[in-house]
Amino acid sequence: LPSCTSQASSAGNSAASSGTPSYYRVLVLGSSGVGKSALINQFMSSENNISDEMSASDSTVSVMLDEEESLLEFCNFPDDQFPEEDINVDAYVLVFSIADRATYEYANNLMRYLRNDVCTDRSIFLVANKTDLVRKRTVDKNEARLCASYYSSKYVETSASLNHHVDNLLAGIVTQIRLKLNPDRI
Ligand code: GDP
Ligand code: MG
Repeated sequence: LPSCTSQASSAGNSAASSGTPSYYRVLVLGSSGVGKSALINQFMSSENNISDEMSASDSTVSVMLDEEESLLEFCNFPDDQFPEEDINVDAYVLVFSIADRATYEYANNLMRYLRNDVCTDRSIFLVANKTDLVRKRTVDKNEARLCASYYSSKYVETSASLNHHVDNLLAGIVTQIRLKLNPDRI
């Protein structure tokens, strides 16, 4: 295993002082069918997305948070694949379905891999999607939350179908990336 050394570099270039919005890349990972594409589509139609067709690409969201604009590009990684190294992103979003235990185990493996093997210190979000499928839930909320905190990651439960907590997730990603780049900000 490679030894873990700290990495301070960022994929995005923060240019808040010049008034240019900072630009961040977010990699979305997880098993096939957990709702990665559905979540990204919801980000695009979020009311937080203030970008117009002139300034946005298909997968870029402009988020206005705390009177500061940030551009987030969401990269949908191929289903069921692990990135080979800590690629040039600011945050990882690991999605699983609460109705499919195997997808949770897969997200767990991804998390362990990213923290222990790839040794990333980027923001990681563990996202429990499909919370609307209440009766099919096979992953306990506290169990998943504990796993996320063990790996110094954030845990969010969403329903892409109902657009539930998708905006929270989007704001959380921006907040964590900004904190990581500038830990002194309040
Ligand atoms: P991906 O393979 O991870 O990109 O998953 P998709 O976004 O293509 O979604 C796979 C299937 O799950 C589709 O039929 C979606 O409509 C469905 N889906 C996605 N999100 C949700 C959700 O929050 N709740 C429910 N019930 N279905 C969802
Ligand atoms: Mg997809």
